[in-house]
Amino acid sequence: MTAAEATYATHDVYNQSGDLGDVDLFGGDAVLRDAVAAFDAGWATDRLHAAGRVTGSAETRLLARQANRVLPELRTHDRFGNRVDQIEFHPAWHELMARCFGSGSHSLSWVDRRPGSQVARAALSYLWNQAENGICCPMGMTFSSVAALRHAPDLTAHWEPMILRDDYDPRPLPAERKRAVTVGMAMTEKQGGSDLRRTQTTARPAGNDRGPGSTWLLTGHKWFFSVPQSDVFLTLAQTEKGVTCFLARGWLPDGSRNRLKIQRLKDKCGNKSNASSEVEFYDMEAQLVGEEGHGIRASIEMAHLTRLDFAVGSAGLMRQAVTQAIHHTSNRSAFQKRLVDLPIMGRSSPTWRWRSRA
Ligand SMILES: Cc1cc2nc3c(=O)[nH]c(=O)nc-3n(C[C@H](O)[C@H](O)[C@H](O)COP(=O)(O)OP(=O)(O)OC[C@H]3O[C@@H](n4cnc5c(N)ncnc54)[C@H](O)[C@@H]3O)c2cc1C
Repeated sequence: MTAAEATYATHDVYNQSGDLGDVDLFGGDAVLRDAVAAFDAGWATDRLHAAGRVTGSAETRLLARQANRVLPELRTHDRFGNRVDQIEFHPAWHELMARCFGSGSHSLSWVDRRPGSQVARAALSYLWNQAENGICCPMGMTFSSVAALRHAPDLTAHWEPMILRDDYDPRPLPAERKRAVTVGMAMTEKQGGSDLRRTQTTARPAGNDRGPGSTWLLTGHKWFFSVPQSDVFLTLAQTEKGVTCFLARGWLPDGSRNRLKIQRLKDKCGNKSNASSEVEFYDMEAQLVGEEGHGIRASIEMAHLTRLDFAVGSAGLMRQAVTQAIHHTSNRSAFQKRLVDLPIMGRSSPTWRWRSRA
C-alpha cells in the first residue's frame, strides 16, 4: 500500500497545483519592475523586493483569508450598556494593517521627495492590494488625506507627523496618546454620492471663531463611511457660506467618543474585511479645513488621490488573479501537457511566467 493509499483509501490526490508558497510579488513581476525603473523609482528596488516578499508570503495569505472569513462586527455598546461605537476585527486584520503601514505604503511619497517617489509608493500599494484589498482602503485614505490637510497649515503641523509614522496602533484612544493614526473620509450622503454639493449635514461654530482651525459642531448623516474606527477623518457640512470641509477626531482629548453614532455596517459585495458604515453626527466636534464654503475644493484633493489609489488597487486585484492563474496553469496538466502549454493558452509567454521564488 502506498502512502497516498494509506491516507486516502478511496483515491490518490494528484495533479493539483498546490499552494503558491512564499514568493516575491515584486521580483516575479517583470512588467512592474520595468515600470518602476522606467519612471525613476529604481532607487526603491530593495524596498519593493522586501514588500514583495511580505505580500507574497504564505503567512500573509493566511492572514488575508482569516480577515475575510471572520468579518468585522459593530459593537454599539459595551456589556454594561455604555455606548462605545467600536468595530471588532479578527486579529489578522490588525496584523495586516501593521505590516502594510509599517512598509510606508501610506507615507513614502510624502516623506521621500526624490523623483519617482509617487511611482514607488504606487508600487507598494499595488503589492499590498494583491495581498489583501480591504486594508488598502484605510491605507489609501491615510495617504490621500495629506493633500487635503495641507489646505490648513495649523492642522497639518499638528497631524502630519502622526499620519506619516510607519506604524499602526488600533487602540480606541485620543490620537495624541497613540503611536500612529489612521485617517478616514466621511463624505457620501444618501441623496448625493458623486454630487457633494447636495450635502445636507450642517455645521455651526462652537464659539465666536470662524477662522482657520476653528471648532464647529456638525449634525447630520453619512451614508458611506469606511473605517469608522479612524482616529481622525475629513468630512463635509453646510455652513451659511456653502459646503465646507472639516477634520473630526474619532475620540476627543478626554478619551470619550466624538459625538457620532455608527448606525450599521454595510453588507458589501467585496472589500469585506474592511468595515464600511453608516453614521450620524450629533453636534460632533470638528475643525475647519481651508476656507468656509470651499469644502469641495479641499476635500476633492483627498478624493482624487483615493480614486487614483483605488485604480492602482483594481490593477493589483487583477494581478493577484493573474499570479494565481499562472501558478495553476503551470502546475496542472491535461491531455499530457501542462495547461500553460496547451494551444488555447498560447498567449502565455515565458516572460509572464513566475520567475522568482523567495
Ligand atoms: C467599498 C466602498 C467604500 C466606500 N467608502 C467610502 C468612504 O469611506 N467615504 C465616503 O465618503 N464614501 C465612500 N464610498 C462611497 C463612494 O464614494 C460613492 O459610492 C461614490 O462617491 C459614488 O456615489 P454613488 O454610489 O451615490 O453613485 P452616484 O453618484 O449616484 O453615481 C451613479 C453613477 O453615475 C455615474 N456618474 C456620477 N456622476 C457622473 C458624471 N458627472 N458624469 C458621468 N457619470 C457620472 C457614476 O460613475 C455612477 O456610475 C465607498 C464606496 C464603496 C463602494
